[in-house]
Amino acid sequence: MMNTPAKIPSPADFSHVRDWVFDLDNTLYPHHINLFAQIDTNMTGFVAELLQMEPAEAKLLQKRYYHEHGTTLAGLMLHHKVDPNAFLERAHAIDYSALIPDEALGTAIKQLPGRKFIFTNGTVAHAEAAARALGILDHFDDIFDIVAADYVPKPAGATYDKFASLNRIDTKHAAMFEDLPRNLMVPKALGMKTVLLVPRNLDTAILETWERVEHIDAAVVDYLTDDLTTFLQRLLSNAV
Ligand SMILES: [Mg+2]
Repeated sequence: MMNTPAKIPSPADFSHVRDWVFDLDNTLYPHHINLFAQIDTNMTGFVAELLQMEPAEAKLLQKRYYHEHGTTLAGLMLHHKVDPNAFLERAHAIDYSALIPDEALGTAIKQLPGRKFIFTNGTVAHAEAAARALGILDHFDDIFDIVAADYVPKPAGATYDKFASLNRIDTKHAAMFEDLPRNLMVPKALGMKTVLLVPRNLDTAILETWERVEHIDAAVVDYLTDDLTTFLQRLLSNAV
């Protein structure tokens, strides 16, 4: 029988951590904010215009590329020689007003001992805009994005290696926070503490079928939480 990940962090379990690595979307803000719906619509529009397809057909192709290549962009670059900057600009031309300052989250991130990073399959511009709207941008040391990754998205091992070596991160002294279980496999293998963010009301959340949080295995996921702020506050607390 598989172990299930723990939900309540013990501060001692994170006392060796010097570098804190956060995915952006659906991790630093909750899934139900659904910022991705806007990005998704923009990507569909880009594909429809590029390939002169009806939106429904464009959406199918977009999802196929996402599934087969990790991002829609990777599929578009491979099969259609798309200019990544044009795509990324269009994809992230969204309204960030759904994100409001999260002071408790900012305080918790600030208090984490060591460096903090955002490691996203999106762009620096998108990460900055989202983190700024949340009021947490100033607490991060750096942002590693899809451009820095040479457009090779997580969960590719080479991309984690590039991120870690660029920032001189000792992965045995690092923790990774992510909402996609597949993106925690490499971090776990590299010795990082892994924390999976799951949607509140998991049962009713609308997820891509293949993204569903099934078979969450403690072999990959050390901790599982639906509330990042409370999780960080608990691991920071000295209370026994
Ligand atoms: Mg994410």
